[in-house]
Amino acid sequence: MGSEFGAGRRDADWRPAARVAGVGTSVFTEMTELARSTGAVNLGQGVPELPSPPQLLADVADAVRSGANQYPPAHGAPALREAVAAHQLRRYGLAYDPRDEVLVTTGATEALAAALLGLCDPGDEVLAFDPCYDAYPAGARFAGAKLVAVPLVEEAWGSPRAAGTGGGFVLDEDALRAAVTPRTRVLLLNTPHNPTGKVFTPDELAAVAEVCREHGLVVVTDEVYEHLVFDDAPTGAHRTIAALPGMRERTLTISSAGKTFNVTGWKIGWVCGPARLVAAVAGVKQFLTYASGTPYQEALARALGGVEEWAAEVRRALGRNRDLLSEGLERAGLRPYRADAGYFLQADIRAWGHGDGVRFCHELPSRAGVVAIPTSAFWVRPGAPSHLVRFSFCRSEDSVRAAVERLGGSG
Ligand SMILES: *Cc1c(COP(=O)(O)O)cnc(C)c1O
Repeated sequence: MGSEFGAGRRDADWRPAARVAGVGTSVFTEMTELARSTGAVNLGQGVPELPSPPQLLADVADAVRSGANQYPPAHGAPALREAVAAHQLRRYGLAYDPRDEVLVTTGATEALAAALLGLCDPGDEVLAFDPCYDAYPAGARFAGAKLVAVPLVEEAWGSPRAAGTGGGFVLDEDALRAAVTPRTRVLLLNTPHNPTGKVFTPDELAAVAEVCREHGLVVVTDEVYEHLVFDDAPTGAHRTIAALPGMRERTLTISSAGKTFNVTGWKIGWVCGPARLVAAVAGVKQFLTYASGTPYQEALARALGGVEEWAAEVRRALGRNRDLLSEGLERAGLRPYRADAGYFLQADIRAWGHGDGVRFCHELPSRAGVVAIPTSAFWVRPGAPSHLVRFSFCRSEDSVRAAVERLGGSG
């Protein structure tokens, strides 16, 4: 008797490639589904519930209607490449040639994947700070490279920098140095950092840069939250490692429109760097997607010129939400860590009698009507701490208030 699905088909005839074995459904998809099915407030995935600049939205509609609907040049719409170069010069004092030192990508995600595929041979090692964004280990794996995780260290509670709220996460320079081997090719940096909300301090950036210069490493720096450092952050505004001495020539800087303009569905990102490194990324990118998002690129070219005024408003809204959430978590006994930027903060769940973030996050929707993500989804090292949970505060103020209210009544 044949199988239910017809005789002759044997599953053994095919199998997925080893590079995707174990990739499976992500915890983000699972938690988003749980939020939907339980009606819980979703502070899991970082999908913003914040507005976008009305002019930007109108410009996209105009671009579509006026016929900007075919392939753009493979390196991106010239106007956007020029706007990105002008932005890097204005904000960081770094000059990039829009012809061959700026590449537009399908979100920061494609830029990261193409950078790792373009820079790493099988067996090479990539350094990243743990916990890290989940695209990094996946990208390294697709390239046949090995991601070597360097732990960020939890700051002691009540330490001076922590200023009232919980501690933050700091660089362990010795651990970084110890992780470098003759096979290390790339250091992946992410500042401001997801999932912790950490902003690397000037001293930390200098220490990372020194290690990279000493060992001839290329830096791939993911700066998608560059505009979202809160005004009360002790580090001050975002700094890019590419601006440190001797670093421009060895650094690929990645950013994206998604987080800055609250348009995560558009998937328009970009890479800046020296021509030979950008060419390596472009060589991969042209056969992943070739190009994408013509009308978005046209409209974003205009919006990027006024990003500073726009971002100031976003930071105010996000900063308010962060305060609401941290204060609410504190009251609920879920100790929040300091977050100086971005969409997320960490909370310590042990006061609720939990040591296991995965179980906690599965129970939280029925216990409190809130969805969060276990930080273990971001740890690369086995045996990393399991008592941390990531909450997102990029939702509307009403959603954050509702979540805090529910958490307050549930401890
Ligand atoms: C959201 C995010 C990305 C992905 O950016 P896209 O432009 O949507 O591809 C990359 N890195 C970090 C750290 C992120 O949080």
